Amino acid sequence: MRIDVVSIFPEYLAPLELSLIGKARQDGLLELNVHDLRTFTTDKHRTVDDTPYGGGAGMVMKPEPWAQALESVAKPSEGAKPVLIVPSPAGERFNQALAYELAEEEQLVFACGRYEGIDERVIEWAQEHFTVRPMSLGDYVLNGGEVAVLAMVEAIGRLLPGVVGNPESLVEESHSDGLLEYPVYTKPSAWRDYDVPAVLLSGNHGKIAQWRRHEQFRRTSERRPDLLAEFDAGSLSRADRNALADLGYDVVDGRLQARHGDAAS
Ligand code: SAM
Repeated sequence: MRIDVVSIFPEYLAPLELSLIGKARQDGLLELNVHDLRTFTTDKHRTVDDTPYGGGAGMVMKPEPWAQALESVAKPSEGAKPVLIVPSPAGERFNQALAYELAEEEQLVFACGRYEGIDERVIEWAQEHFTVRPMSLGDYVLNGGEVAVLAMVEAIGRLLPGVVGNPESLVEESHSDGLLEYPVYTKPSAWRDYDVPAVLLSGNHGKIAQWRRHEQFRRTSERRPDLLAEFDAGSLSRADRNALADLGYDVVDGRLQARHGDAAS
């Protein structure tokens, strides 16, 4: 995969040289280029912003440097348009399913906005050259797109083949199957006044798997009941249904329904 990030603060992306993503780049599993938007300006002051039409606070990023930058980094392959991700609090909410989807792409380009954002005409024009995806990290406002890009590139990059040493570790993670992960423990088995749950020391793999599954349901119902409401319950085993019934959920028409006043909320 090739990733290009355009920003007025290229140094902000330095952490992408570290850890697993940095190693993936060194190993040639991921090509990642960071571009300074100001190198695509033509005036002496390297201007990237101007006042908003219609008035109001703040500045807006000018279209021309963005068009120059995006034209220079787009590398369409076999007629397929690269994906342009425009971080924005007004975008589609980024999640693990999107990380998996985007990890299949040949090229991702990230356009880091600053100030009040990028002139909207860039987003319209870019559709000629890219599949454009405005994307939000969450329902809050950051100062710029760089922090969102760090998070998205890490979430996507770790799904590329070979980046995470043991691909099994991607399978049981939170959000991989619509649930949160079960709690994890390591040695020592007794620490201060806290013991590791006895089942994990039992060596009984069936019981351990059952306990972990139950913990996934318990944790998800306590912390993210919204995920359970979306969960496809059609293919749940009898043991899963029993575990969910204990937590106050019934399966109705393939969906989980919280029994009123019973389920954790
Ligand atoms: N005026 C914009 C609005 O209300 O939608 C917010 C602009 S924000 C101060 C500047 C830049 O930060 C945005 O263009 C975007 O690149 C980035 N940004 C802010 N919040 C974000 C979020 N939740 N997810 C992704 N990017 C975000």
